[in-house]
Amino acid sequence: PSPLGPTPKLVIDLERLAALPKEKAGALARYAATIQSQRGDYNGKVLSIRQEDLRSLAVIYDKSPSELTEELISWGVLDAEARRAVESF
Ligand code: C2E
Ligand code: C2E
Ligand code: C2E
Repeated sequence: PSPLGPTPKLVIDLERLAALPKEKAGALARYAATIQSQRGDYNGKVLSIRQEDLRSLAVIYDKSPSELTEELISWGVLDAEARRAVESF
């Protein structure tokens, strides 16, 4: 096991996401809304997503998973811990 502990989760900051311009964050916002709806998870401030979903989102944004992760960190949508979650890809 890693000395840094278990692989951190990918946790999306939904309030931050909602505050971003649609041109940037629209696709991610729709994806997150779909997951919330499938789970019936509506009143959260954050949403934990699957690693597999970050792969799909990277395809949508035409980036590698680590490039997309860096972008989402720069927007404040993911925290820096998320870097470790994509290292295992
Ligand atoms: P499913 O993938 O067949 O999962 C059925 C149920 O198993 C989920 O119901 C949830 O209670 C549990 N489950 C599956 N994987 C995990 C996991 O990694 N962690 C946890 N804590 N529980 C898990 P739920 O939440 O009502 O979701 C219903 C369906 O909605 C899921 O069926 C799946 O098709 C979709 N879904 C929900 N969340 C996500 C997501 O984050 N990503 C994707 N791709 N689909 C999701
Ligand atoms: P955690 O994973 O560190 O999550 C801390 C808090 O962030 C959660 O407190 C919840 O308020 C929020 N949160 C994280 N992900 C989501 C999300 O996808 N949707 C929503 N609505 N809120 C989210 P909470 O619910 O009291 O859970 C406390 C701890 O219990 C979690 O800490 C985790 O360790 C465990 N836990 C809760 N649900 C699950 C789960 O589905 N799977 C696993 N493995 N652990 C869970
Ligand atoms: P978590 O619930 O702590 O689950 C951590 C990891 O354990 C998941 O990472 C997945 O690899 C595995 N896992 C947990 N439950 C199941 C399951 O029912 N089926 C399978 N095949 N694997 C499972 P992953 O997929 O990256 O998900 C990360 C986090 O996203 C989960 O942490 C949970 O907070 C959330 N999540 C993912 N899928 C669902 C879902 O369908 N429903 C809900 N409510 N939460 C989900």
